Amino acid sequence: MPTESDLTGVPPQGQAAAGATADRKSDATTIGDRKLKPSTLMMGYGFDPVLSEGSLKPPIFLTSTFVFPNAAAGKRHFEGVTGKRPGGADGLVYSRFNGPNQEILEDRLAIWDEAEDALTFSSGMAAIATLFLSMVQPGDVIVHSGPLYAATETLIGRILGRFGVQWLDFPAGATREEIDAVLAKAAALGRVAMIYLESPANPTNALVDIEAVAAARDAAFADAGEKPPIAIDNTFLGPLWQRPLKHGADLVVYSLTKYAGGHSDLVAGGVLGSKAHIATIRSMRNTIGTICDPNTAWMLLRSLETLELRMSRAGENAAKVCAYLRDHPKVERVGYLGFLEGTPGLERQADIYRRHCTGGGSTFSLYLKGGEAESFRFLDALRIAKLAVSLGGTETLASHPAAMTHLSVPDERKAALGITDNLVRISIGVEDADDLIADCEQALAAI
Ligand SMILES: *Cc1c(COP(=O)(O)O)cnc(C)c1O
Repeated sequence: MPTESDLTGVPPQGQAAAGATADRKSDATTIGDRKLKPSTLMMGYGFDPVLSEGSLKPPIFLTSTFVFPNAAAGKRHFEGVTGKRPGGADGLVYSRFNGPNQEILEDRLAIWDEAEDALTFSSGMAAIATLFLSMVQPGDVIVHSGPLYAATETLIGRILGRFGVQWLDFPAGATREEIDAVLAKAAALGRVAMIYLESPANPTNALVDIEAVAAARDAAFADAGEKPPIAIDNTFLGPLWQRPLKHGADLVVYSLTKYAGGHSDLVAGGVLGSKAHIATIRSMRNTIGTICDPNTAWMLLRSLETLELRMSRAGENAAKVCAYLRDHPKVERVGYLGFLEGTPGLERQADIYRRHCTGGGSTFSLYLKGGEAESFRFLDALRIAKLAVSLGGTETLASHPAAMTHLSVPDERKAALGITDNLVRISIGVEDADDLIADCEQALAAI
């Protein structure tokens, strides 16, 4: 007998490649011995047109609730949702819990990081907040790398802090010894609920040594009953240029608003990881309703089809633009991950880059000679690049962190983070690279 999810053409959560649905064309991940690449699977994986009137693309399922075939099936669903039956929710029940568009998106999103399971959320911050709420209790300690995305720091320090959650941090580039020391201090304070990383850090671009964090965690909690999971915000390099699950992270977090969405026209988030961790986070999402809406999920499905094309082109463009900027007389320095190799003083960062990353991304820091006045003249003169915060879209964006995103950060902390008045943050898009260079050239001339 078909389940509801069969009728919608969507396999049950995380089950796309398994069991009863394995013979469906839309669930194939191999041809013979050949494992299909994510860029191939983005076109059809997890959606069977036969079950939706032959529609090539999934319809947008605008419904708040799903009809049970019979009463017993309804009982079965709620036994799963409430934990009375192991295995979790099965099929579609109510749109605060799940929906066909979100499930297809989650199956496809998981492919890039080779995660067992995934969840999507109404924003990156909804993903991060739901993750924290599902993991922490009063008295617990969160250990995190710093700096973090400003709203994440607010969430940990000011919001979870109100509920008795403590935190300790180490700088993004910390060595194994420094991480060991912070973990020992944290364990003395209380139960370490989670180790939360962000790499590269914004706006310093400092990389976190995920392998060292995992080794430090495993050593520090070798005798403990449970090890705190390692979660990492992979928004800046994922899923193309960094795959943290391969380096010892347990959970990967995304603001899908950025490269995954990629067109600066939606806000969404994701969390990926093992079935067990995702089940914990799912029950919190079910409770508080932070799920992504079906329309946004559909737009993200379209975005994922071109993810590799977009990110590859943006990465190539950024390499060319940065090579141009680096040698310009009005430029003091370019903070671009592609330049770590061979830079004196950045040997450890270069080593982390070599082990963890397959590309430098397309978001970088441009330090001009001068201060705010010079930066503003450069920004105001740009003709192609738009002045806006955010990143990872098809279009090139430029902003001034000291006067915009980090305006409220105290001066001392700004200095420590390298957020100076001559810093311009740039996210390169998929335009023609030579046009972007011409734009930079004339804007630099205007300084
Ligand atoms: C944008 C961003 C977020 C927050 O995502 P939203 O989709 O805006 O909620 C979190 N982390 C990083 C690194 C980001 O760039």
